[in-house]
Amino acid sequence: MSESIPEGLKITPWLAQYKEWKEKYPDALLFFRMGDFYECFFDDARTASAVMDIALTSRDSEKNIPMAGIPHHALSMYLGRLVKAGLRVAICEQIGESNGRTIVERRVVRVVTPGTYVPEESENTGHLAAVLPLGKRSRLSVALLSTETGRLEAGTLPSAEAIALLSAFAPGEVLYPSNVKSENLPPSVRVFALLPQSPELFRLPAAASRLKTALSSKLESYGVAEDDPCVGAAWAVLDYLSSTQFSAVRHVLRLIPLKSGNHMYLDEATQRNLDLAPDVDARDLVRGDASLFSCLNRCRTPMGRRTLREWILRPLLDLPAIVKRQDYVGCLVETPATLDGLQDLLSACRDVERALSRLSIGTGTPRDLGAIRDTLRLLPGLRTLPMTEPLAETLRALPDMGDLSDDLEDALEEDLPRALGAGCPTVRSAFDGELASWREVSESGETWLAGYLEKERVAAGSSRLKSGYNRVFGYYLEIGRSGLETVPPHFERRQTLANTERFVTPELREFQDKMVRSEGEIARLEAELFRQIVERALSIGMDLQLLGRLLGLLDCVASLACVARERGYVKPEVSESWNLKIRGGRHPVLETTLSDATFVPNDVTLDEESRVVVLTGPNMAGKSTWLRMAALLCVMAQAGSWIPAESASIGLVDRVFTRIGAHDDLVRGNSTFMVEMLETADILNNVTSRSLVILDEVGRGTSTWDGMSIAWAILEYLHHDCEASQGGTPPRVLFATHYHELTCLEDRLKGVKNYSMAVSEGSGGILFLHQVTPRPADRSYGIEVARLAGLPKTVLRRAFELLEIFEREGFERSSIPDPLTRLHEQLTLFSPEADAIIEELAGLDLDNLTPMRALEVLYKLKVKCLKARH
Ligand code: ADP
Ligand code: MG
Repeated sequence: MSESIPEGLKITPWLAQYKEWKEKYPDALLFFRMGDFYECFFDDARTASAVMDIALTSRDSEKNIPMAGIPHHALSMYLGRLVKAGLRVAICEQIGESNGRTIVERRVVRVVTPGTYVPEESENTGHLAAVLPLGKRSRLSVALLSTETGRLEAGTLPSAEAIALLSAFAPGEVLYPSNVKSENLPPSVRVFALLPQSPELFRLPAAASRLKTALSSKLESYGVAEDDPCVGAAWAVLDYLSSTQFSAVRHVLRLIPLKSGNHMYLDEATQRNLDLAPDVDARDLVRGDASLFSCLNRCRTPMGRRTLREWILRPLLDLPAIVKRQDYVGCLVETPATLDGLQDLLSACRDVERALSRLSIGTGTPRDLGAIRDTLRLLPGLRTLPMTEPLAETLRALPDMGDLSDDLEDALEEDLPRALGAGCPTVRSAFDGELASWREVSESGETWLAGYLEKERVAAGSSRLKSGYNRVFGYYLEIGRSGLETVPPHFERRQTLANTERFVTPELREFQDKMVRSEGEIARLEAELFRQIVERALSIGMDLQLLGRLLGLLDCVASLACVARERGYVKPEVSESWNLKIRGGRHPVLETTLSDATFVPNDVTLDEESRVVVLTGPNMAGKSTWLRMAALLCVMAQAGSWIPAESASIGLVDRVFTRIGAHDDLVRGNSTFMVEMLETADILNNVTSRSLVILDEVGRGTSTWDGMSIAWAILEYLHHDCEASQGGTPPRVLFATHYHELTCLEDRLKGVKNYSMAVSEGSGGILFLHQVTPRPADRSYGIEVARLAGLPKTVLRRAFELLEIFEREGFERSSIPDPLTRLHEQLTLFSPEADAIIEELAGLDLDNLTPMRALEVLYKLKVKCLKARH
C-alpha cells in the first residue's frame, strides 16, 4: 500500500523508528503518535488525507516529507471512515515519557481492520470470515465471526452455500491462506470479488501448522474435534482477531457448527431479487427502504435488529424451531399490554453485546460498562412482565446478574466519561477508600491554597500577592514590582515578567508535589478499579452474552408481533407436507406502500395437480408481484413470522430460487442475457424436491424464438428431467412469462397449470384487476407496452400489422407485404366502423392522458379494430 521511505533520505532517529514499524505493518496505514497527534507519512499521508478529508502538509520542510495527522482525541471519529474504505490502521503509541536525550519509545498496540473494528455507536454488524478450500473443489471450510456479538460459526459447506452465506453477511474481511494459488480455488471463490461490499481480501500467511499447535485448549472448550475440517478456518479468524487486537480473544465463547441444511438456502441473487434486507453498509444511511427487513422492523434495540436480520436471511428448516418462534410471536399478539410494556423496557436497553465485545478486546470505555449497568437495571422489570408460555420460559432463562448489577451501581458514577480521566470521574469515591482520600486531598487543595495565600500576604505585607498555576512551574506566588521591597526571605524567585515577579516557597512546592501526586494516584486508582470492574463483568461474559441474545430474541419477537397485530397477519401452518396453499395472500411490502389503491389479495396453490404454474397476462397486471409474494411469504413463515394472508399452509421449503427481471449487470461485466443464464444454470443445478423456484420472464434477454425455446426446455427440465423430479417429487415452480405459446404445456404435461392476471374490459376501457385466475391470458400485449414507451407510430402500426399476420398464418408460411402497399389497401378497405375508430382517435386529448389510461384506450381500440376486420 505504501511506498517505503525514498532512497537517499537521511535517516534521523525518529525516521528510523518510523521505518522499523512501517516495515512490520506494510499493509496498514501507520498512525504514528507524536505528542497530541497521530501522524501519517509518505504514501500513508496521501491516502489518509484523501479518505479522512484532512490537510496534506509536510514535515521537515527541507526534506519535504508528506504528512497528515489528526488530534489523538478524534481517533475514534476517523477510524470508522477508514475501515469503511477497506483500510487497515496500525496504531503506534508513545510508550513512556521523553527524557529529552533519547527519543521516546513507540510501539504498535493495535491494528484496526475492517473485519475486526467494533465502533462505539453504530447500527452496523461487522463480520470477519475465513475460507479454506478443501481437497474437494466443491466444498469450503468456512468460519464466520460477528464482531459485535462474538458469535462464531464454522463448518464445511458446499461452495454455493458458503458464497450465499458470505453474501448475506458481507464480511468486512475474508481471510484465506496465501499458499493457495488462485487457480486452485474452487471457481465460485472468484465470486468474492463480486460480493456487495467487495470485502478486503487479506491473505493469511501460510500459518496452517502454527494453527494446529495453538489449537488444542480452545478446541476442547468448544467441543470440536481437532481434525474437524472447520478447525482451520475457525482458528484463522481467532488468530487474526487476537493478533490485530494484541489481546486474548475472550468473548468468543462458543463455536456454533455450520451445517448445510440448517437453514433455508437463499442464494445471492434471491436475497437481492426479493429485497430481503438492505446492504450492511447502507443500513446506517437508508431508513425506510423497501426491503422485507425494514417492513418488519419495529425493533427497539440493536440486538433485536441483528436478530431480525439473521432470521430473515436465514429462515429455518427445523419444524419445531419454526413453531416455537411462531408461538413466541403469538404470545405477544394476544397480549397487547404486555407487548407495549416489553417494548417500553426494551427501548431503554443498551447494546450489551457490543459493549461486551469492546471490553473483551480492550477497547472498552467507561460508557461501555455504563451500557451494561443501564441494561441490568431493567431486568427486574422485565422478569415481572405477565407473560404466557413459551415466552415466559425465555424470561425465566434470563441470567440472574444481580451481583454484577449491584457492583456496577456501587462502583460507577451515574454520568460516565467517554474515556477514563476525560472530564468527569468514572469510579465513585464511596467505592474505594484510597480513591476517596486522594480525591479529598485534591479537592481540599483549593481551600488550603486560599488559606496559605492569606498567610503569605501577611508575611509579605502586601494584599496584592496572588497565586497562580502554569504547566512549566506549577503553583507560584506573584507580586507586582511595587511590592518587591517587602518580599520575605523564604520566597524563591522563579520568573520575571514585565511588571511582576513570580516566586515559589518550600511549602508551596510541597503542596505542588502533593497535588501532582494526588492526580497521579487518582488516575492510577481509577484505571486499576476500572480494570477490576471490567474483569468482574468479563468473568460472567457467558451470562452477558446470553442476556444479549435473549434481549435480541425478545425484541425481534416483539417487533414481529407488533407488525402482525397492526396489519392483521395470521400464523401460517408450516408442515412436512410438500403442498403449498395460501389463501388471500398479500405482498408484505407493497401492501404498506400502495398509496392510491388497496392491495388485491391472491391465492397460491401448489399441489399434485398444479406443480408448475405458468402465469401469463399483460404487463403491469401484477405477475411479478404475485411471484415475489409467494416467495416472501415462505421466507417469512420459516423465519418464524406471521404472514399477511387469510390462511396458509406451507410445506417446508428448503431453497428458494428466483430469476427475476432482466437487469443489466455492467459492474460485473456480464451482459443481461449472460446473467440471466448464469442464474438459471445455478437454479437448475441446485434445485431439490423441496425447492420453490420463481422464474419471471426467463428468456427475455434474447430473440423470441431463442428465448421461448429456452423457457420451454427449462420448464420441461424442472417438470420431469431434473434430478429432484426423477427422485419422485419435482420442485414447485411459479413461472411468469410473456411467451403466450407456453400455455400449451398445460395439455402436454401433467401438473402444469395455466393461470393469468384478470383484466376487465368495461365501458371505460381495460382495467387491471390484479387478480390471479386459473386460465391462460387471452393474448400477450407487448406492442401496447411498446406504445407506452413512446415508440414512433409508424413502428407501432407496422408491428400490429405483422403480429396479425404471424398469428393468422404462422411465421414460416406468411407472405409479408410491404408496409406501404398494405397501408393503401387498408385505406381502401375503410368501413364505417373504421371511421368511428379514426374519429375516436382524433378526439383523444393526448396532453391529459395518463400512460395507464392510454394503454386502456389502446386495448379498447384494438378490440374494435378486430371486430371491424371480421
Ligand atoms: P407485471 O409483472 O405483470 O408487469 P407487476 O407485478 O410489476 O406487474 O405489477 C405492476 C404494478 O401493479 C405494481 O407495481 C403494483 O402497483 C400493482 N399491483 C400488482 N399486484 C397488485 C395487487 N395484487 N394489488 C394491487 N396492486 C397491484
Ligand atoms: Mg413483471
